Amino acid sequence: MFVTPTPIPTLKKALGRELHRRERLLATAACLLTLLFGFVWKMERYQAREMQALIQETVRHQGDVSWILSRSAERRRARMVRWQSATQSLPPAASDSRDARVVAIQADLRASADVKAVVIPGQKQAAFPAFDHTEFPVSDVPDWGTMRSPAEWDRPFGQIPASEFVPLPPYDLSTLQIPLSSLANPIRPAFIPAITAKLTYSTRYYGAYDLDVGEFSGLHPGIDLKLAFGTPVGAVAGGRVSLVQKKDDGLGLYVIVEHRLASGERIFSIYGHLDTAWVQEGEDVRPGQIIGTVGLSGRTTAPHLHLQIDRDDGSVPHQPYWPTRIPSPAEAARHTLHPIDFIRQFSSELGE
Ligand SMILES: [Zn+2]
Repeated sequence: MFVTPTPIPTLKKALGRELHRRERLLATAACLLTLLFGFVWKMERYQAREMQALIQETVRHQGDVSWILSRSAERRRARMVRWQSATQSLPPAASDSRDARVVAIQADLRASADVKAVVIPGQKQAAFPAFDHTEFPVSDVPDWGTMRSPAEWDRPFGQIPASEFVPLPPYDLSTLQIPLSSLANPIRPAFIPAITAKLTYSTRYYGAYDLDVGEFSGLHPGIDLKLAFGTPVGAVAGGRVSLVQKKDDGLGLYVIVEHRLASGERIFSIYGHLDTAWVQEGEDVRPGQIIGTVGLSGRTTAPHLHLQIDRDDGSVPHQPYWPTRIPSPAEAARHTLHPIDFIRQFSSELGE
């Protein structure tokens, strides 16, 4: 019996075709999986990097240092200006209705104006308003750490729903100095309060314009609070408005309120980069009374409040202090008070 064997090339071919088909399937599956995993991994990396870059880009440039406006910052400013002119061109009633909170605050202001109107003229100015207690200029802030794009961060106060606000985070240097890269790479829900705190206190007392540094690393004699454009700002204590001034650079539109401490010392709270001022020079203010709204005036590219507390240096009207080199804490204490320590120190000392 002689069976003609199947020619080896035919076997090889058959085997090869079979192998080839399996291989093709395997290879396709492997390719798809690789692509899928690669894409997911890349996207995560990309998002984390993007997020970090966006945060840094938005915050780095919001200080008072001179710097060249980047094109995106220019666009943000242009958007803000458009928003401003849009709201300004609206009739007052329509403009007011854009945010119930603003309406409430304005009503409060009007109510306090009515009370003032019944005070006998001359008598109001006779006694300097008592310094009784302090308040933070805002009680809540947008939860910046949950926001992922400039479109969200750039919303004016009236467009951020109350549900997106959180109580003003504590000014805690150990949290503020956690490197942003370790919190945003990737962002986990547990990191959000720290990110919100870092972004809120975007420049620390004598801090450099860097989100990761502590105090006495730069010339900045106050603190910067990253707040939404149009946020109403309250006076930190009772006193008398000593200056409402608008400059094209520096602090832009700023208000200075004079306070007289129980010790008799005169100090000045300074609110910079405002959009609007709601008080006039010579006007008496109570703690928490709205003095104006957060803006983009002066040397800044993102809306924020520059809050500074100066000691009296004899200048009339008072000129905000700005050092030419980083002072020692003792040197700084001769010219300024730490705004947070000051507010904390007197926040509960009512009637003193
Ligand atoms: Zn500042």
